[in-house]
Amino acid sequence: MKTSFQIGRIIGIPIKLHITFLLILPVFVWNFAINPSPFGFSDQDTTLRYVLSLAMAVSLFVCVILHELGHSYIAKKHGTKIQSITLFLFGGVSALEEIPRDPKTELKMALAGPGVSFLISILFMGIYLLFKSPDDSFIQINDPYMRLFWMISIINIMLGIFNLLPAFPMDGGRVLRAWLAQRTTYIRATREAAGIGKMFAIIMGIFGLFYT
Ligand code: ZN
Repeated sequence: MKTSFQIGRIIGIPIKLHITFLLILPVFVWNFAINPSPFGFSDQDTTLRYVLSLAMAVSLFVCVILHELGHSYIAKKHGTKIQSITLFLFGGVSALEEIPRDPKTELKMALAGPGVSFLISILFMGIYLLFKSPDDSFIQINDPYMRLFWMISIINIMLGIFNLLPAFPMDGGRVLRAWLAQRTTYIRATREAAGIGKMFAIIMGIFGLFYT
């Protein structure tokens, strides 16, 4: 059975959707439809509520693809072949033919994804601040279209920060390994980065236990 299908091609890279992605999309639409402002559209009438929620869910996944394209673009520039970018249940995955073993390239590649996310965030926050109505503040956004821009900005900041957490398979884990690999051997750097990631996961777990 075919589990993913191609929806297009950007800078020569096939973009694919995995079937798990088709299951999660309605969940996201529903989530945005029932959440109140500023993280949803529950205060709007039915049609607009679902149109904007769908627009938000699709925007979110377009932003995930753009994040992956950030990684892929740098990888391609350094001669790595990219087979495809596939959208799964929780985010995108770039399939690379070979992962660069040069720490400087890996560092640039790992940072490119979050870099794209932060750029999108700044762009949409700029649009929001330029065109928002005078009554709207940073968290009180009555205009539903402006709220969409605001949400895209905030979600991209979160996407960037979340991906920079220093644990594999997040980009932050790769940044850490690349940074360590410039000082020691690649294998030791991988081991140390994985160790730091584990420690970080334990700290996050303890933090989660006490602050829920
Ligand atoms: Zn990434």
